[in-house]
Amino acid sequence: MSAHDELLRRHRAVLPGWVALYYDEPISLVDGEGRHVVDADGRRYLDFFGGILTTSVGYNLPEIVEPVRAQAGRMVHTSTLYLIEQQIELAERIAARSNIPDAKVFLTSSGTEANEAALLFTTNLRRSNQVLAMRNSFHGRSFGAMAITGNAGWSASGLSPVQVSYLRGAYRYRSPLRDLADDAYIAAHVDDLRELLATTTSGDVACLIAEPIQGVGGFALPPDGFYGAIAEVLAEHGILFVSDEVQTGWGRTGAHEWGIGAHGVVPDAMTFAKGLANGLPIGGIVGRAELIDAVPANSISTFGGNPLAATAALATLDYLDTHDVRANVAREGERLMTALGEATSLPFVGDLRGRGLMVGVELVHPGTGEPDAAAAAAVLDACRAEGLLVGKGGLAGNVLRIAPPMTVTAAEIDHGAGILLDALSAVGRPHDLAGV
Ligand code: PLP
Repeated sequence: MSAHDELLRRHRAVLPGWVALYYDEPISLVDGEGRHVVDADGRRYLDFFGGILTTSVGYNLPEIVEPVRAQAGRMVHTSTLYLIEQQIELAERIAARSNIPDAKVFLTSSGTEANEAALLFTTNLRRSNQVLAMRNSFHGRSFGAMAITGNAGWSASGLSPVQVSYLRGAYRYRSPLRDLADDAYIAAHVDDLRELLATTTSGDVACLIAEPIQGVGGFALPPDGFYGAIAEVLAEHGILFVSDEVQTGWGRTGAHEWGIGAHGVVPDAMTFAKGLANGLPIGGIVGRAELIDAVPANSISTFGGNPLAATAALATLDYLDTHDVRANVAREGERLMTALGEATSLPFVGDLRGRGLMVGVELVHPGTGEPDAAAAAAVLDACRAEGLLVGKGGLAGNVLRIAPPMTVTAAEIDHGAGILLDALSAVGRPHDLAGV
């Protein structure tokens, strides 16, 4: 029995069955360097998923590991009952990066908690339990975050602490309106929002929460400017706008620091997590002071922004800035998109989309265009066999998600794209896959 077989047996015996593992023969990753990881059997992979976009700048970087090691040797945790200099500095820097005037920051340990906080603050401030969310969205694992998740595959309960109305438009590829020109597409959804507000709410809605590029939803995105136009209608009603930047923040889309930058609007608040500390658990919300302060009772996050996590986040922000990582994202994202462009001529590649280092490839049954989840799983396996890790997602699990650490090099993009193109070509010959 290999190390992996034994781990899988123990995993299945004691961890929940609903924690999905990639691959028929799942792997354990035990070492990393730059954009490469090594599994428990010593196999090396180029990592194009970065622990779900969370190892944002790469594995084992001295600029991040050393400050974390030093901080761990001094003090890991104190709690928010005491002043935490690293937390204060981190909040100052996030507030300054946010473009939100008069911003305050609340730090948590995960993206789910960040979105829970967004629900609490916006419903408190607006004295309303009505919320708008997008179809095909994902916002986390908790009761409230699941309630605003527009994806049955990730909603483990139909019970909800808020009343949710779901907007269309974030997932253009499968929209009946997808062939409209961008302006007309946006205008149609602005009209739909007005109708939604008039027909499914009593008007005094607390907020809209939306991912600028839907992560779990398969890197689906609307045209640029979509959320700017939507936000104009929200403003007419005093409805707050929260951008969930858990996947799109920290320059991941290349063009902007935040995914919402493509839409010409500064939201009332943004939630974040994943890549901020290059893998240490941290999340949070940045927003207008009036909103973040809308908590009329005591509240804390014991771990949120503790000295260790905040140190890692500060080191990651330093790394992002001193290495101009966002410029690398724009450059290498373009290179990846151009390389994968070749795949769009394949009959089972329905859509190639994304921005920066967030690239989705939607696989479909040729002819019908129906989602082909089996093909996505086969490509994942074929890539792994050749030493490349990629992710998948989408409502039907048929979208490949490619999101390497943001420091990926041109040579790594060429190598990874080559493996992906070969794997995609093999999908057209299903009988070959067994041997890949
Ligand atoms: N929001 C988005 C857009 C996400 O993609 C995720 C996780 O994948 C979450 C929220 C939840 O974050 P976490 O898993 O850190 O709780």
